[in-house]
Amino acid sequence: QDIASQIAAGEIIERPVSVVKELVENSIDAGSKNIIVEIEKGGKKSIRVIDDGEGISRDDIRLAFERHATSKINVIEDIFHINTLGFRGEALASIAAVSNLSVTTKTRNEPIGTICKISAGVIEDVSETASKNGCLIEVKNLFFNTPARLKFLSSDTHENSRITDLITRFAMGNINISFRLIIDKKELFYSSGNGDYREVIAKVYGMDLAKQILYIEKAFDNGKIWGYISKPSFNRGNRTGQTFFVNNRFVKDLGLTFCLERAYKTMIPIRRFPIAIIFIDIDNSLVDVNVHPSKMEIKFQNENQVHHALFHAINETLKNHVL
Ligand code: ADP
Ligand code: MG
Repeated sequence: QDIASQIAAGEIIERPVSVVKELVENSIDAGSKNIIVEIEKGGKKSIRVIDDGEGISRDDIRLAFERHATSKINVIEDIFHINTLGFRGEALASIAAVSNLSVTTKTRNEPIGTICKISAGVIEDVSETASKNGCLIEVKNLFFNTPARLKFLSSDTHENSRITDLITRFAMGNINISFRLIIDKKELFYSSGNGDYREVIAKVYGMDLAKQILYIEKAFDNGKIWGYISKPSFNRGNRTGQTFFVNNRFVKDLGLTFCLERAYKTMIPIRRFPIAIIFIDIDNSLVDVNVHPSKMEIKFQNENQVHHALFHAINETLKNHVL
């Protein structure tokens, strides 16, 4: 396997949680209703993602592992009209470049499934197999051929907690999909996918918060902000309770974080951090998700407009419910 693709892989696949993120995003893009994630030894030994989505047909399986070949972007303008989470067509190729990977899959129209095995980016076998509709991807021995990366991984406990955190965020962002997370054979998280926000919030932050959570909503010119925020009495010593989704994509954006906190601080001088799950639905052409390969950072064309709406959505709700 060539060095160039190992380096490219490193940009997207930094640690086990990056693998989980890419695989789960693919499962969501494939229209899955149930997604199971199984982790062993912090994801260093194995990561399995099992879904019931559309699957990959025998004819497409090789293509799925070719860098950029399956990109959902056909012309460059498409970047601004992305409805799927993935669009670069490089995640599977990147993961396969640095692991022993196998896919077992079947589409609804095929009578029999396909298994494809890849080691360090080289396809070793494609053959028929029994399979349910959907995809089962197993990633073993991550970074076995890039020892320098392997060395930089944290303890299993640390890697596990990153993965748990990610799955709970996916569950909050996708309440109509059931998520199950199993770590070293123990179930760590489960959401039923029945569309009930309170269920997911209770699972992640506890029943006390779920009972008291406040709903916020505010329309602005090119979109809408909505979501759930804690009363100031519920807070945390860090920002782990703050989650932002832009057009259903989980994002990290300090501008949004500071804006959220400012909205609380103008009301009540708390030193700790509020809990908030915020959705920003905005015209796709006004947000650029193409800033970084991991796609967690975004850029708003009109940042002030978004911040203004967020600030007031929170401010008005807190005023009504708290004071
Ligand atoms: P991208 O998601 O950017 O298109 P990926 O490398 O993540 O690129 O995936 C390559 C392709 O493989 C996808 O476009 C999709 O067609 C197919 N694929 C990957 N995972 C799944 C899955 N779980 N179910 C169905 N198809 C999948
Ligand atoms: Mg993808």
